[in-house]
Amino acid sequence: MPKIKMKNPIVELQGDEMTRIIWDYIKEILLVPFVDLNLETYDLSLVNRDETEDKITVAAANAIKRHKVGVKCATITSTPARQKEYKLKALTPSPNAVIRAILDGTVFRTPVIVKGIKPFIPSWTSPITLARHAYGDVYKSVETLVPDGAKAELVITAPDGATARKTIHEFKGGGIVMSMHNTDASITSFARACFKYAVSEKRALIFGAKDTISKTYDGRFRTIFQDIFDNEYKGEFERLGITYEYNLIDDVVARVIRSNGGFIWACKNYDGDVMSDMVATVYGSLAMMTSVLVSPDGCFEFEAAHGTVTRHYYKHLKGEETSTNSIATLFAWTGALAKRGELDGTPELCDFAAKLERAAVAAIEGGIMTGDLVPMFSKEGVSPCKVSTREFLEVAAGKLLGKPSGNFF
Ligand code: NAP
Ligand code: MG
Repeated sequence: MPKIKMKNPIVELQGDEMTRIIWDYIKEILLVPFVDLNLETYDLSLVNRDETEDKITVAAANAIKRHKVGVKCATITSTPARQKEYKLKALTPSPNAVIRAILDGTVFRTPVIVKGIKPFIPSWTSPITLARHAYGDVYKSVETLVPDGAKAELVITAPDGATARKTIHEFKGGGIVMSMHNTDASITSFARACFKYAVSEKRALIFGAKDTISKTYDGRFRTIFQDIFDNEYKGEFERLGITYEYNLIDDVVARVIRSNGGFIWACKNYDGDVMSDMVATVYGSLAMMTSVLVSPDGCFEFEAAHGTVTRHYYKHLKGEETSTNSIATLFAWTGALAKRGELDGTPELCDFAAKLERAAVAAIEGGIMTGDLVPMFSKEGVSPCKVSTREFLEVAAGKLLGKPSGNFF
């Protein structure tokens, strides 16, 4: 079978520990035999970030800006303990934060749905993708304790020096006060990324905030979303038969719980922090959660939602067999391949990505899985069989080639 060609490169961001082992297995077993990989590779391992004084991370982010599609392996965020372990010159910032600052993106997290792994909410039969605004609000707030009898005021000083004051509260007894902010630019980027992603996924978008109470602050979010929708995306949404809806956050939560999933849920920063953990838990496991950073100018960076699985890596280093779930990392690759195919007009690449996803899911649905999924699996007539990290990928390769039980039996 001739290998599938790629017109333009995918930016490959290599990482650390167990996910780096999985990364190489995926390429060897599931990609290289089928695709003539066109990659521009950046080694974001902790040691190389340290050696290059993190220039490698900045270069990788700029490469994604150029080529529009990247795929990232999980990386260690350096800490004093890691500095000692890896004998580093200095602590480098979190790569995800560096990349996000350059691409100015929004992160969308989506679970991989598999028959036999039941979500805790049984009606959630399609994935819910959560989009979290990643700037401002309570995460950039200023807060303080207030003594008895104090008056708290909000003071805005305009560039010409003019001031506007508002009384927050005249305290009888001690208390607390907090102020927070956001910017039109950040909210606008967030809104565009959400609309762009909904169009790219052809799925409905819902956004919830509390503008009945916070008429100016949350009201600003609602207005910016609505203006961008009406002026830039309404026609495209209508053509695709998808909808955008704003509702109060409480109403959205109630509707999400009763839903069958299948939509994109845009959340303000704090709501997204809390709700993304709820959504991930309901669907079962971080190892089944994919993540994509979408920038307002249309760059896509795909990754797994979990970390480098350090505990399994130490076992691997001791020569012990591991059973680490590769689904989220594999789906980062298929996401990137499909996006590359879509942007380049090479449908055979999109078809391959879809087939590979179906092969991996079919392996689990047929009862072959890594250890983390075994306690969650329940399907009539199928008893789960735990396999090693590598064996799972070999079974998926077998499924891809149409062998009924994969390469395993
Ligand atoms: P982690 O790597 O996500 O792993 C935490 C635990 O979750 C594992 O020990 C394992 O549980 C389970 N787990 C996670 N992914 C799994 C998988 N694919 N298959 C099976 N089990 C899985 O989080 P961490 O241990 O807190 O962090 C490790 C390193 O990752 C840190 O250095 C951190 O900085 C980094 N990190 C990177 C990213 C990123 O690059 N996006 C994100 C988060 C963390 P059991 O041990 O019980 O089997
Ligand atoms: Mg959180």
